[in-house]
Amino acid sequence: MTISATRPGTAMRKGYDAIPLYAPDPSPVAIDLSDNTNRWGMPPAAAREIQRAIAGNLAKYPDAYAASLKQAAARYLDVAPSMIVTGCGSDDVLDSAIRSFAEPGDRVAVLDPSFVMIPTLVRLNGLEPVSLPLSSSYEVNVDSLPRSGEVSVTYLCSPNNPTGTRLSNARATIAAALERTRGIVIMDEAYAEFAGESVVDLVSENDRLIVVRTMSKAFGLASMRVGYAIGAPDVVAEIEKSRGPFKVSALAERAAVVALTEDVQWMKEQVANAIESRERVAAALRAKGFDVIPSSANFLLVPVRQASAVARHMRALGVAVRPFDALPLVSPALTATNGGALRVTVAPWPEMEAMLSALDEAAATVARDARDRGSAA
Ligand SMILES: *Cc1c(COP(=O)(O)O)cnc(C)c1O
Repeated sequence: MTISATRPGTAMRKGYDAIPLYAPDPSPVAIDLSDNTNRWGMPPAAAREIQRAIAGNLAKYPDAYAASLKQAAARYLDVAPSMIVTGCGSDDVLDSAIRSFAEPGDRVAVLDPSFVMIPTLVRLNGLEPVSLPLSSSYEVNVDSLPRSGEVSVTYLCSPNNPTGTRLSNARATIAAALERTRGIVIMDEAYAEFAGESVVDLVSENDRLIVVRTMSKAFGLASMRVGYAIGAPDVVAEIEKSRGPFKVSALAERAAVVALTEDVQWMKEQVANAIESRERVAAALRAKGFDVIPSSANFLLVPVRQASAVARHMRALGVAVRPFDALPLVSPALTATNGGALRVTVAPWPEMEAMLSALDEAAATVARDARDRGSAA
């Protein structure tokens, strides 16, 4: 294959044109509430371990499949190490899992709206995403699950990003998805620590269920890029094959191992702080008239009209939040704003106060601009 310098498109993979590059705004911002990372900082024992690791010898490759991390994750969740597969962030684990259980061209059922990376990962693997819409109460209607043969992978997420809602019928949904299809069911539990609930216990009885976790949110290690999944040993082995060796760096592995063993109490304290701050800011937003969606995670989805314009003004005021302009109109709250919403990461109270005043000012500016355009027309 030759790649033409003048017409590079001719050598590119069919189907990739329509896939967008994930490219968040790189400009610095004083208060970044856009990505749901831990605004209380990083775990202290893991931070010390990174210092020690840097002082050591990094000339060697890390362990091919991060054996010590599997041990630590297994102890944290009380499962066998043979049931753990790790990766460069849970994105990597999700990508590998989707690839290992679907043939090119297969369909993947994806909760909608849910984690924006999933349809991209599905398409990058030559697969086709099909929407599994949330109900008006942000649940999965079990009758809407695909029938046998229709999909080879079903992606679920609870608490769900970007809605923040938990699937109260997660167990029934998983049971129905496993019963209706021969494929794999993925439950993304990136925010499980905030919800205080998990379906990990179902894995030992269901060898087609995979539960995915991350160190990027409650554990405060997003920059280290560590995620993992829990599944039956032979399923996990397939994901590991698809993933390939050396995906978790030595620094990341050491930091994550220490976080999962010595920083669990720290993590729980930060989760409690996040929940307290979340409920306080949700009440403040409701008092201002916003229809905040009830959250079980460390962020809030706030339906607003012209979300991108509001977020742009907020960023100019030093506060970054994540706008969505066209979420599916699954609920009355999202229908009222025509699918517009801001996703706001929960943070220590001074940052929440800064967010609230930036939101007030930005919303007023956007409303005034709209009036000016209206009176000019
Ligand atoms: C943040 C997030 C992830 C985590 O990604 P990493 O690659 O582990 O940083 C996975 N799933 C969901 C739903 C998320 O919100």
